[in-house]
Amino acid sequence: MSENHHHRELSDGEVRARALESLLREKGVLQGNVVDEVVDIYTNDIGPLNGAKAIAKAWTDPEFKSRLMANATRAVAELGISGMEGENLVAVENTDDLHHVIVCTLCSCYPWPVLGLPPRWYKDAPYRARVVREPRKVLAEFGTVLPDGKEIKVLDSNVEVRYFVIPQRPKGSENLSEEELAELITRDSMVGVTVLPDVEPKVAA
Ligand code: FE
Repeated sequence: MSENHHHRELSDGEVRARALESLLREKGVLQGNVVDEVVDIYTNDIGPLNGAKAIAKAWTDPEFKSRLMANATRAVAELGISGMEGENLVAVENTDDLHHVIVCTLCSCYPWPVLGLPPRWYKDAPYRARVVREPRKVLAEFGTVLPDGKEIKVLDSNVEVRYFVIPQRPKGSENLSEEELAELITRDSMVGVTVLPDVEPKVAA
């Protein structure tokens, strides 16, 4: 296992968090799945929302998009987005001809500041191994059936580079505001395991 790939010991903060959770559980303060629920909210809502904001802005502001493609860490910082595991963010764009999907084949490197915590399947061995070997099949299992002619590029994130995907803007979304666009963008589309469905065109009021 390469040294600079990140298989780190638990940090001081993580050790403390675990100790605290055990203690609170023992004392009966914490019950049920409350910690899991908080993690779930972070995983599904708070994290990916940042990425969605950045992508909605890129869709509507070509200059921001250029900056995002050139240096994603710096560009998202303009939106106040930064944090751990986000030092070397790289944004890649899906097009009519090329589809990107991200993985960390060795562990679970993931662009936390834009996508939050990685979903369980991202960390699981089957996804990590199979998406490299048979991406078209794995994508189909996520409900993503791509045309035969479309090239699929699998990007392996690591401690140096953490990719995220700029999905194709849905057809029909031409009249939507940046905020409305952000609501369409899902975590899975930014990992590249799904594509965004077309939407009913909004008629200008
Ligand atoms: Fe990793």
